[in-house]
Amino acid sequence: MSVLPCDRSLPCPCGRLSLRRQPLALADCCGRYLEHFDSTPAPDAEQLMRSRYSAFVLQRRNYLLATWHAPQRPAALDFEPGAQWLGLEVRRRRVLDATHAEVEFVARYRVAGRAVRLHENSHFVCEDGRWYYVDGDGC
Ligand SMILES: [Zn+2]
Repeated sequence: MSVLPCDRSLPCPCGRLSLRRQPLALADCCGRYLEHFDSTPAPDAEQLMRSRYSAFVLQRRNYLLATWHAPQRPAALDFEPGAQWLGLEVRRRRVLDATHAEVEFVARYRVAGRAVRLHENSHFVCEDGRWYYVDGDGC
């Protein structure tokens, strides 16, 4: 399994900004969850969604599978070869109740010279203090 090298001081792929509107470093953003899933789960649905985007960028297959709600989890996960991720925009977050939330996002990538725009409303569930991705509706 290939894992891309990951420079922890680089800006986080998810594009999150600090309170001072500076890009957060990977180590201070999604990197914590990607590297320490067992001890440091993402604390809410938006941060889980962002960390899963970063996991796609960095090709962290194990993280993506581990954060998929078990009943919906695919048996295997392949990355689109040559996909170049261009950015994530979180459009809307909605807390439905203590254990259910939705995050609407647009992710963009380019593959084989073609620009792809992924617009999804994702559903998340919290079990035993951990958030999981359930599924998503295309927008
Ligand atoms: Zn991030």
